[in-house]
Amino acid sequence: MATAYEAVIGLEVHVELKTNTKIFCSCTTEFGGDPNTHVCPGCLGFPGTLPVMNKKAVEYAVRAGLALNCAINPYSRFDRKNYFYPDLPTAYQISQYFHPICKEGYVEIELGGKKKKIRINRIHLEEDAGKLLHSGSSITSSQYSMADYNRASVPLIEIVSEPDMRSPEEARAYLEKLRAILEYTGVSDVKMEQGSLRCDANISLRPVGSTEFGTKTEIKNMNSFRSLQRALEYEIDRQQDVLEEGGTIIQETRGWDEEKGITSSMRSKEEATDYRYFPDPNLPPIVLDPAWIKTIKASLPELPDARKERLVKECGLSEYDAGIITSSRSLAEFFDRTVVLFNEPKTVANWMMGEYLRLLNAEGLEVSESKVTPEKLAALLKLQADGKISGKMAKVVFEELFNTGKEPETIVKEKGMVQISDTGALEEIVMKVLAANPQSVADYQAGKEKAIGFLVGQVMKETKGQANPGIVNQLLKKKLSE
Ligand code: ADP
Ligand code: ZN
Ligand code: MG
Repeated sequence: MATAYEAVIGLEVHVELKTNTKIFCSCTTEFGGDPNTHVCPGCLGFPGTLPVMNKKAVEYAVRAGLALNCAINPYSRFDRKNYFYPDLPTAYQISQYFHPICKEGYVEIELGGKKKKIRINRIHLEEDAGKLLHSGSSITSSQYSMADYNRASVPLIEIVSEPDMRSPEEARAYLEKLRAILEYTGVSDVKMEQGSLRCDANISLRPVGSTEFGTKTEIKNMNSFRSLQRALEYEIDRQQDVLEEGGTIIQETRGWDEEKGITSSMRSKEEATDYRYFPDPNLPPIVLDPAWIKTIKASLPELPDARKERLVKECGLSEYDAGIITSSRSLAEFFDRTVVLFNEPKTVANWMMGEYLRLLNAEGLEVSESKVTPEKLAALLKLQADGKISGKMAKVVFEELFNTGKEPETIVKEKGMVQISDTGALEEIVMKVLAANPQSVADYQAGKEKAIGFLVGQVMKETKGQANPGIVNQLLKKKLSE
């Protein structure tokens, strides 16, 4: 019988901190910009310049660590990671190797109703590298490359998990939870597409029941949650094939190719550089005042899990809905603000989970980029609740609101949408429909309750869909029982 294998996965996640200026100089950290316009002699590594620690970067690293249940090291220090590559002007990256700023945290994930803690080994502060732009499609096929140092020295934290994940789904759930928590704390934009959240995945297989770890590979180049999951699924199959054929896994770094859907070897352990880490002599250690750490802890916002529990308990939302609404802070705040204006949490949740998320996803937009505001959604829901428009019309209005940002009331007027809720006007039409359909009336009176659906449909047809179906229903029942 073939051996059954279990996957062992650990993630290394890089997060760009949302400080205004770089980690050791006063250049802007703004994304984009013309190449080499966000640079100075300091971040370009000119001789004679000295790094000066950005206090905000330290604060954000501590903030992230506290939100991720880490212990904060009162003493941490910077080290130089030496390697030569043109994206690194100094030929060393300032990082924290021997004494990272945070240690021993965890993130709780939930899959299929089961909760699991994924431990965090450490979080360290470091500087980002610049970016290379190759003249061809890859470095090997290029005549030349251009270097842009705008990103060089932007502050990063690296969050290193323990190898606690056992499936691609768990790895994805961990990264999603990590992203949500970091977004709530406000330390980063956490945008995978723009590179402010980047993830390397370490993965190995071992026979089920074994307590030792197998040899791991490290996968790079995944820039969405979906690619992370796909890359890990691919790598599990690949490693399993190697092992089943009696081969051994080579410890190496592999790149994920999104188009081909495969990983391929980038470099093996033998080719790995020795980084010759040593303490950076230009930077003093970071010694933290416990009172300052306390202040930061006290300023943490309500985090996703707590918020989810609150929506379940106080608003009566299902675990599933509450989980999705609290998966991002902007979505959760949108919900809270809408509920203040239109106090039917379940209705608000249904609209957000249905129409709103559907359109946001289809357009690839964030809540903050959308023209829909809590005020406008609440106004729309009120029009529906007051019987001024039907549920069907509300969906049309919402789509228009989403696309144009116009006030729901204006859209209703422009489209000439009016729902007839006037009982007198509807009664006349109901009588007309009853007179024209004696068979359905007889069916209903003979106990076929379904016949009423047909009659409602006829009234809707007569009114070109503008009748309030609830009122039509009531009127029909009343007339039929007279
Ligand atoms: P390295 O020395 O290669 O950088 P580390 O021990 O620092 O390895 O771990 C790097 C990452 O790899 C961590 O996230 C860790 O959880 C994960 N990891 C370590 N060993 C394994 C393994 N055998 N299988 C899968 N992941 C692993
Ligand atoms: Zn600079
Ligand atoms: Mg390591």
